[in-house]
Amino acid sequence: MKKVDYSAILQQVYDQSKAFADEGKVADYIPELSTVNSSKFGIYLHTKDQTNYELGDRLESFSIQSISKVFTLSMAFSHLKENIWERVGVEPSGTPFNSIVQLEYENGIPRNPFINAGALVIADILLSHLKNPKEELLQFVRALAQDESIQFDTKIAQSEKESGYHNASLVHMLKAYGNIKNPCEDVLDFYYNQCSLSMNCKQLALSFSPYASLIEPFDFAGIVLSKSQVKRINAIMLSCGFYDESGDFAFRVGLPGKSGVGGGIIAFHPHEYSIAVWSPRLNKKGNSARGMKALELFTTLSGQSIF
Ligand code: GLU
Repeated sequence: MKKVDYSAILQQVYDQSKAFADEGKVADYIPELSTVNSSKFGIYLHTKDQTNYELGDRLESFSIQSISKVFTLSMAFSHLKENIWERVGVEPSGTPFNSIVQLEYENGIPRNPFINAGALVIADILLSHLKNPKEELLQFVRALAQDESIQFDTKIAQSEKESGYHNASLVHMLKAYGNIKNPCEDVLDFYYNQCSLSMNCKQLALSFSPYASLIEPFDFAGIVLSKSQVKRINAIMLSCGFYDESGDFAFRVGLPGKSGVGGGIIAFHPHEYSIAVWSPRLNKKGNSARGMKALELFTTLSGQSIF
């Protein structure tokens, strides 16, 4: 790939994306999420030669929310192998991330592991297979990011627990179809904790570097994935990583990745780099408004997308 001046490009991304700083709204359906300063913006790029480029609030931790679904999918896939696809699909949903209607039409098999219903099934799988699911998730993420300081944010988890009627409906609906094996309360407790993982842009960029590099072995804290499994996870990020805006993200940015309602986005170029951005104001589809624009600018200015 042709050499580009990443420092200069990130500065342009930072400056030009400022025009979008007031677009969108901070998520407030989880009350604790709304306490964040909406003007925050951080960006961190980690390249294949281990060089880092960074700007803004990239070392400030935020709630990664749905980005955690990539980590839990990786753990469940490592344990269940191909059998995992009996319980969750791999197609984009075309519906909002917390939609319940599709689940009924499709008899309790969620479309993919990144919508809430799918992530709840994955959480259930982990509860069935792991002795200490929360602790093992933490160990896995810390190993990926090479950072032992990563923690759950119990205030956020508690806040979501108190307001999470939608997720409670989903898990009960899944249970009615036989696709949840553990008590609903336990599944929700694990799910709210995974979503509350608190990370900064640097930790996110580093933790996705193994997905970007596709090196074998992928072996972190006992979670082992083959190259083919990592390829599959990456493919789901491309097709389903951005709610029902995944097509638009591929169209505008051209990278696989995952977003969360905390305003974080991780994206990467296989074999080249991983890049994390954070800006808490979300567009109507639930993706960071300035973050989307920043990544679109980054792949446009660098000429480096997967297409
Ligand atoms: N904990 C959030 C929820 O279940 C995650 C949403 C997201 O980031 O997409 O609503």
